[in-house]
This record gives sequence, structure tokens and C-alpha cells, in this order.
Amino acid sequence: MSRDYVIDQMISAKTIDARIEELAQDIRSAFGGTEKLVVVGLLRGSFVFIADLVRELDFDVEVDFLEASSYGGSTESSREVRILKDLRGEIGGRDVLVVEDIVDTGFTLSHVVRLLRSRNPRRLETIALLDKPSRREVDIKATWTGFEIPDEFVVGYGIDYAQHNRNLPFIGKVRFS
Ligand code: 5GP
Ligand code: MG
Repeated sequence: MSRDYVIDQMISAKTIDARIEELAQDIRSAFGGTEKLVVVGLLRGSFVFIADLVRELDFDVEVDFLEASSYGGSTESSREVRILKDLRGEIGGRDVLVVEDIVDTGFTLSHVVRLLRSRNPRRLETIALLDKPSRREVDIKATWTGFEIPDEFVVGYGIDYAQHNRNLPFIGKVRFS
């Protein structure tokens, strides 16, 4: 059982929408000439973001998913990153965009980037919807970031608290009551 909590809205659905349009423009200019971009979503938190993002891209994309170990029902990031589900497709020689929900300590993204680079993509960039710079322990920053946020535990727009609240259309912060 989780503790009692309330959710205060932090970023509205409208604000997320507008930001995704801007991010998509950046991605379009960066990957303009690409034959087909491989968009890699990190499960499970990025599934709503990736769905909205790819629909703003007006060129061919392939969508693939990778699942790295998360930290279950707790709110502390784990340093040990394990791959629970690998990509279905090959990325050697291809243009790849890794889509993450939140960069927190940075362990997850840096591990995933190292792994995927070892497969020799032609180009690999990263995008994170949210970034908590004050929590960083590994020196990594996504190529593009949606919003920098303070050190709060957030939910919604694909992001969960113990498998609840993923379907909220906005980003909210969890306040324990
Ligand atoms: P990192 O490896 O950067 O510490 O952690 C990244 C992962 O931790 C994110 O992909 C996300 O799954 C999880 N995470 C970090 N901050 C939060 C948060 O505020 N809420 C939720 N639900 N997950 C978070
Ligand atoms: Mg995650």
C-alpha cells in the first residue's frame, strides 16, 4: 500500500503540447535528411511522450522500445541499471533518437547511451521530457530537454507512482499528506 498523497499540477497538458511542438522542430532540423529515424522509447515512462512526439515529426520513423530496470515502488533511484527488454531492431549505421521521461541522477541514460553507442549507430541523440539537474550524479545531459524541474517526485503524462497516475494528462508533483 502506498501512503496517502495528493497531486499538485506542475506542468499543464497545454504547456507540454506547446513544448513538444518546439522540440519536434529542433529534431526535424537536426535529423532533416535522415532516411528513417529510429526512435527508441525507454519503457515505461516515455510511452505518452513518444506517442505525442513522433506525431509531430513529418518524416519516416521506426519506433522501438528498451526497458531498463527501474526502482519499483520506492522513490530512490538505483545505481545499478539492468536491461530488462532490449530493442527488437538493429541500429548499426542508423540515426537514433533515445526518448527518456526524466533524467534524475543520470545513471539510466548514461548506461543506455553507452550500450547503444557500442552498436555503432551513425548518429545517436537523446531527448528527455524532464530534467532534474540538482539530482545529477553522472555527468550527462540529454541533447534536448522539455523542462527543467526542481527535485520533486512527479507523476502523470506516462510517469507513475507505484503503477498509478500514468494516465494523467499533465505533470503533477506528489505531496504526501
Ligand atoms: P536516473 O537513472 O537518472 O536516476 O533515473 C531516471 C529514471 O528514474 C527515470 O527514467 C524515471 O523512471 C525515474 N524517476 C526519476 N525521477 C522520478 C520522478 O520524479 N517520478 C517518477 N515516477 N520516476 C522518476
Ligand atoms: Mg524511466
